[in-house]
Amino acid sequence: MTCTVTVLGATGSIGRSTADLLDQHRGRFRVGAVAGGRDAAALARVARDLGASFAALADPAGGRDLAQALAGSGIACGAGPAAVIEAATRDADLVVAAVSGAAGLAPTHAAIRLGRTVALANKESLVCAGDAFMRDARRFGARILPMDSEHNALAQAIGEGRVEDITRMTITASGGPFRTAPRERIAAASAAEAAAHPTWSMGMKINIDSATLMNKGLELVEAHHLFAIDAGRLDVVVHPQSIVHGLVTWRDGAVTAGLAMPDMRVPIAHCLGIGERLSIARGRAVDLAATGSLTFERPDEERFPCLRIARAALAAGGAQPTVMNAANEIAVAAFIAGRIGFYDIAALVEGACEGFAARYPAAPADVEEALAIDAEVRRWSEARLAA
Ligand code: NDP
Ligand code: MG
Repeated sequence: MTCTVTVLGATGSIGRSTADLLDQHRGRFRVGAVAGGRDAAALARVARDLGASFAALADPAGGRDLAQALAGSGIACGAGPAAVIEAATRDADLVVAAVSGAAGLAPTHAAIRLGRTVALANKESLVCAGDAFMRDARRFGARILPMDSEHNALAQAIGEGRVEDITRMTITASGGPFRTAPRERIAAASAAEAAAHPTWSMGMKINIDSATLMNKGLELVEAHHLFAIDAGRLDVVVHPQSIVHGLVTWRDGAVTAGLAMPDMRVPIAHCLGIGERLSIARGRAVDLAATGSLTFERPDEERFPCLRIARAALAAGGAQPTVMNAANEIAVAAFIAGRIGFYDIAALVEGACEGFAARYPAAPADVEEALAIDAEVRRWSEARLAA
């Protein structure tokens, strides 16, 4: 039976890797809807290549270009947030949620509310609205397949095991491009330097998050929600080779780890297979003898304060992760635009977490409230940057 797949964020890094696998296994999949942000030409291309039935562009201004680029293809299209929601809610066996940032929350949540199976790459959805998101997944019978490499490795390592029997869950970090750089050097880094990731090829926002280690912070919050595990049992270890992605330590001291080469197509294929294993053309198997050594070290929260800030936000709970995520998105965009320096990212995020702690002590009751807090923190962050 063919599996109908919808891809939200189809033109991005995860979207392209997903498209590669869908193309490799054409007989197995049919592509329902595809959605993108602003690039109408790229979206039209992927929609045509994959034979999608519907294409949605978030930017309303690109609607005409998209329609023109799809003329004669028989692919229906729309533009604006409502069109993206339509893409997310069209009939599908699997929805790949690979929009970047909290912009992915509304469409992903719309799919959750229909009880869909969602392959979740968009970690910001969980950081922004984790409690409400997971509660709605349970309420509407939606299944969430972790697509982030560490969480996918953890899910595979857990297998049929029980979370109660786990004493520690560890996610690894490559350490980013500044792993060994002194603080003064990091402080002066440009966005291009920060985006030069040593092991993974990814979108711009997650590249910067990897350089600050905020990506690991977001992933701790993500793991907390996906596996219903408390912050005290979550750990981060730096592993420059990016071959071991997640480790589960059991009550008896045994450790189960998930390994793969740093290629997002591995966790994506695991999700697309929904229980069956897919082959990956031009994929590389782990060869430990060729790799020689796998090394591990503690993260340095002095040089990478975003990890400390994220740990604190997770431990504090309430709306702190929501606030942190929103401020981080504004800070990262400002850093990419050359408006602020590397360590100003952490300063803005920490300022927002402190500034909003008393105002929003409780976790958002629902996704709407999370999005309202997100919007307020974005305005506050923009104002602070402009001051
Ligand atoms: P990219 O920036 O490469 O791609 C983002 C995609 O989302 C693009 O297709 C973009 O379109 C689209 N998009 C942006 N805004 C909207 C919107 N409002 N509605 C619909 N589509 C939109 O990001 P990545 O692929 O790197 O990352 C996607 C998500 O996956 C992130 O949450 C990231 O943290 C996570 N992730 C990524 C990994 C990776 O290896 N890249 C690894 C693990 C997780 P356009 O370009 O036209 O704006
Ligand atoms: Mg990851």
